[in-house]
Amino acid sequence: CAKSEGKNTYRFFLPSMTVDVSDHLRIHNSFRQGLERNEFILHYQPQVGVFSRKVEAMEALVRWDHPEMGFLYPKRFVPVAETTGMIIPLGEWVLREACQQASRWNAQGFRVPVSVNISGIQLRRKNFEATVLDALAWSGLSPELLELELTETMLLEENDLLLKSIARLKEIGVRLAIDDFGTGYSNLAYLKRFNADKIKIDQIFVHAGSQNPDQQGIVRMIAGIAHVLGLSAVAEGVETSHQMEYLVEIGIDSIQGNFLSKPLDRVSCEEYLLRYCERSGRDF
Ligand code: C2E
Ligand code: MG
Ligand code: MG
Ligand code: MG
Repeated sequence: CAKSEGKNTYRFFLPSMTVDVSDHLRIHNSFRQGLERNEFILHYQPQVGVFSRKVEAMEALVRWDHPEMGFLYPKRFVPVAETTGMIIPLGEWVLREACQQASRWNAQGFRVPVSVNISGIQLRRKNFEATVLDALAWSGLSPELLELELTETMLLEENDLLLKSIARLKEIGVRLAIDDFGTGYSNLAYLKRFNADKIKIDQIFVHAGSQNPDQQGIVRMIAGIAHVLGLSAVAEGVETSHQMEYLVEIGIDSIQGNFLSKPLDRVSCEEYLLRYCERSGRDF
């Protein structure tokens, strides 16, 4: 733990990873109130199929409309919530809110899955599975319309309980995506073991690939691994038409990034879905 190593420990962190101590405290102290007063908000970013041209999922990304600190992005408060344990109530709120939103879209005729980022702290809790089932039951969302985004490092643990609870969630139809692929300890065995559906290639590789052919080879290889294992490959953080072109050429299945759409608030989501998402044939 960083604390026991003294203050100098901070020297070893990358600048982007350091959290100002007073900032940390302010955030920590206002967290519970933030939850009680509904200050958290979800934005959603579409993932679009290269060939289907369909909106294949909307990823929920949490923001905090803080009364004093302004509009905060997860980089600022998720790490704090993880060290203080507040990630548990926040994560439950995110799951419920995202499921409810997808359930509403479904009622409006947009059968689009919602994708939810899960923290390792949440996943390791004994009742994680129950939390997911509760959110589904509460919102009335069908499990096929929920996707959980986990990272590689979270799945490295040889934890029987974890394996079983993920297997049960998969059995009822919840989908599984491996987020930020390539940045952790890429261990191919776990992809099969956890029966994941999708690999999300981290934007670091996506960006590097548009600058240099060797780097492009890495993206091609990751997509190839995904396909050999029967998973789909999504590119994250796509920002330019040049990136889009090389990714399509490589055989990426879906694209996510500001080039197609930034994360959208709820109202903009409906406009987006109206424009780009075919409605299923039901009347409402
Ligand atoms: P992530 O899950 O890998 O999400 C992708 C991040 O890339 C998002 O940042 C998104 O806004 C950003 N992004 C999307 N397109 C582009 C692009 O074209 N260019 C660039 N440069 N960035 C793009 P955001 O929303 O700030 O979230 C950052 C991270 O915070 C997420 O990374 C995820 O790990 C975490 N996070 C977000 N929401 C939640 C949540 O509800 N729960 C948990 N536990 N973590 C969350
Ligand atoms: Mg994600
Ligand atoms: Mg990611
Ligand atoms: Mg990321």
